[in-house]
Amino acid sequence: MSPAVIEKVASRIAEHARAHSLQTVDIILHGGEPLLAGAQELATIVRKIRYACAAVGTRVRASMQTNAVRLDEAALALFEELDIRIGVSLDGDREANDRMRRFADGRGSFDTVAKSLELLATGPFHHLFAGLLCTIDLRNDPLKTYRALLEFDPPAIDFLLPHGNWASPPPGKDDDPTLTPYADWLLPIFDHWHDAPALETEIRLFREILRLLSGSPSRSESIGLSPSSMLVVETDGTIEQSDILKSVSEGAAHTGLHIFRDPFDRALLLPGIVARQIGVAALSDTCHRCDIRDVCGSGLYAHRHAPTNGFRNPSVYCADLYKLITHIRDRYDLDTARLKGRI
Ligand code: SF4
Repeated sequence: MSPAVIEKVASRIAEHARAHSLQTVDIILHGGEPLLAGAQELATIVRKIRYACAAVGTRVRASMQTNAVRLDEAALALFEELDIRIGVSLDGDREANDRMRRFADGRGSFDTVAKSLELLATGPFHHLFAGLLCTIDLRNDPLKTYRALLEFDPPAIDFLLPHGNWASPPPGKDDDPTLTPYADWLLPIFDHWHDAPALETEIRLFREILRLLSGSPSRSESIGLSPSSMLVVETDGTIEQSDILKSVSEGAAHTGLHIFRDPFDRALLLPGIVARQIGVAALSDTCHRCDIRDVCGSGLYAHRHAPTNGFRNPSVYCADLYKLITHIRDRYDLDTARLKGRI
């Protein structure tokens, strides 16, 4: 990101914060791999945005999502100085992680990542540790994966469904969309997590479902009907929607906007953004008839896409979401009845 783009991003964020009287803005340094830019470059970006936002009275919370391959003590010291929280991508134990996360020469990245995680999780930098992000791979055993992640004492774990849609279904759902391999993978983890005598960690997907069941809004775009509140600025200053949409088709995340021309508010007029702001009105007829509609919210927007009718479909994970959410609902109802002394 050139100095001119960094300056403009900072002033656009401050402009938006002032226009909407925002007390706080969250920025996430994301990639690709943000540490490829170098820790000093990331620090410069955060300092510039904080400086611009301080002038309009807005606090900036900063975080980063990294594969941790380049996360060393010097970088951690800098991130501590700037209070930049760090989420790390890790898919489980060595076997699970190295299945997909490999260097160009074929070596797996687990040992390198584990060393960085030791630095982050066991030393004075633990307070910067935001959590682990694990993409579900059905070939990995769920409880073994969960226990391997717990070894690093993460404050939170995000289990991500692999990207897919009706034209390009995720692994394990190619032949029959009514199969529920992802719910079957997640449910043993939910039961273990729920039944543990003490909270082992937060699992964001489960916590958000429980929040929605109790009537609170979702804080995640993966589940529920909360409006999308995030935009992406690419390194050249292009403004895009969530990069998850790139899994749908080339250009699906495209907005045509650029920070040198457009304030962020202009994105609110784009149909693709409007569809992610209007909640239930954007859902398919099938979802409207569904008894868990307001909890599920049709899942992640990108997972609804079909070439024939765009995004007005249930999620390609519909069967999994239904099984997962109704299982959690049943456990939640039982817990609530016990608390109220009804059973
Ligand atoms: S479970 Fe399926 S039908 Fe129900 S809201 Fe979710 S995606 Fe729609």
